[in-house]
Amino acid sequence: MAKFEYLNYKDVNERLANLVNNTNSKIKVVKKEPLGYTDFKLPIEHYRMGQGLKHIVVTGSYHSAEIITTIFIVHLMEELALNGGFNPKEYTIDFIPIVNPEGYLITTQMQDLYLAKANTEDEKIKLAKDYWAAYKQDAVNTLNANKMLKKEDLTVINILRGKKEYEALFDDVNLDDYLKDYPELKESVVEIIKKNGYSAGVLAAWTANGHGIDLSQNAPFNSLIEKYKKNGPCYSGTVYSNIRKDVPGPINTPCRDLNNFTFEAENKHMLNFLWNLEHTKDVSIEAFLNYHSVMGKIYQKPIEEDWVVNLYDIDYSKKLIENYNGARVIRSENAYDIIEDVDPFNYINEYFRLRYGINIQVELSRMGSNPIGPLADPDTFMNITVKPNIEAFKKFVNDLEFIKEYSKFINNLVFLFNNKRKNNNESILDSKEVYRLIDNICCKTPTLYTKLKEELKNKNYNAHVITYLFHLIETSLENKEIKEESESIKKRVIYASNSVDKFTERYTAFINDIVDRLNKDRVAKKQDLLNSDEIELLIDNICKDYPEIYTKLKFELNKEEPNEEIINELEIHLSRLINNQIKMLNLLPNKIRN
Ligand SMILES: [Zn+2]
Repeated sequence: MAKFEYLNYKDVNERLANLVNNTNSKIKVVKKEPLGYTDFKLPIEHYRMGQGLKHIVVTGSYHSAEIITTIFIVHLMEELALNGGFNPKEYTIDFIPIVNPEGYLITTQMQDLYLAKANTEDEKIKLAKDYWAAYKQDAVNTLNANKMLKKEDLTVINILRGKKEYEALFDDVNLDDYLKDYPELKESVVEIIKKNGYSAGVLAAWTANGHGIDLSQNAPFNSLIEKYKKNGPCYSGTVYSNIRKDVPGPINTPCRDLNNFTFEAENKHMLNFLWNLEHTKDVSIEAFLNYHSVMGKIYQKPIEEDWVVNLYDIDYSKKLIENYNGARVIRSENAYDIIEDVDPFNYINEYFRLRYGINIQVELSRMGSNPIGPLADPDTFMNITVKPNIEAFKKFVNDLEFIKEYSKFINNLVFLFNNKRKNNNESILDSKEVYRLIDNICCKTPTLYTKLKEELKNKNYNAHVITYLFHLIETSLENKEIKEESESIKKRVIYASNSVDKFTERYTAFINDIVDRLNKDRVAKKQDLLNSDEIELLIDNICKDYPEIYTKLKFELNKEEPNEEIINELEIHLSRLINNQIKMLNLLPNKIRN
């Protein structure tokens, strides 16, 4: 059983101070000068690990209610310090666990007062669950009310603009104890809630800084600024539908004065830090991992802001494919959904993404209801959110050179193909289409993928492998396989060989075994049964993310006499991955999602 792990502002600083002072660290954690101070004089703390010239920037709690991003980063730093996991001679990792310390204090001090009602750990978990449930109910109520909005019914309006259930949980909190040591910060937020008629409960899920500005939205090219100017009062979505985003408040407000944009201090310090780092001799910012916490998603697509692209002479297609490949590596461990669009709520990161290395924005946890909802199930938080994302981080850093080489390789292939296609008056392909095609080919021919990966890692191209792959891609294109993604491996094998061979037969039996194994377990837990088609699709997706598993499986099943022990091991491994994916509500048809 994992512990209920809620860390307020003081807890975070203490945990990290212990880590800095730990003499048993494999990789030392160094506390650097803060990036700077916020308007209310709070330091934006900066920690560093490693001495390499290649830098990776890691940020948490840009949105302060997303406190689990900071808790995750604390765990990540502890794991890397105590057990290693990247090459500190090659890389330096810059951690900024709390970009928005004012907001972190605003939201956690409210939660401190709420959780103080509990005496035991179980009681705290119960309070977190109540919070989670109220918040979820608010989301459902708002969604339903929004559907009926056309009717202009007064009760509908009341649901949308009125006080939420989660806010009511904080009704009896005594504000005398709130932000006692930060009187100016307190005055600022109390003034904001008074001015707008909000309840004190909105402080519990505060996402902005002390001036009520959402740091992620605080970017001059945020197109919403013009929209808010034109449309008058604008309200946030779902749970925050009673909160205005065109005036300073708890969430989504881009700047203090819509007619006169200014950067908040936190963003000025972030921009300065990145600029200075990049302009340090021999140093490069290779990647930027920006952790948020909205329902297990990965944002990776760079925005097409021409002025940034032109100003800094950015190779947009390189960015596009590098970010996508980076996201695929992260996804192979956490199994979150890769979003194929830009994040409409994170403009400052879109700028970072264009400017500073491979930029992946990971939205941790599928539980929702920030800040304490995701902590209401400590086991899930530890095993499904923290651990897989630590693995994802390590894998990302260790695969970074490969991600870059692989992206270059694909872009070269696209270039060669398109030249040829242009000459034949055929339509032009984009890099991601070719990537998917290579993915499909690698599933069919996993040894090729393993070989390719090795060669790209060693930057030692073997002309035969490339030519062979080129040939396979061309054949696939001729067979119009490019849109064939959803077809399962089994079906594709049959399609390719036109007969049910020994491998297909064994593979089918293998899948049926796994389905039986999983269903036996589900019967015991009184859950819906899974069918083999769904599982097959799931295994397919897993094989794409872990080609090594598929290679091993295929090798074994193709043998005259497969080794039962290895097959059994693979069954257990895959069952575990499938169960994780189901827990993460991932990759499955709607039926199982509930
Ligand atoms: Zn966020």
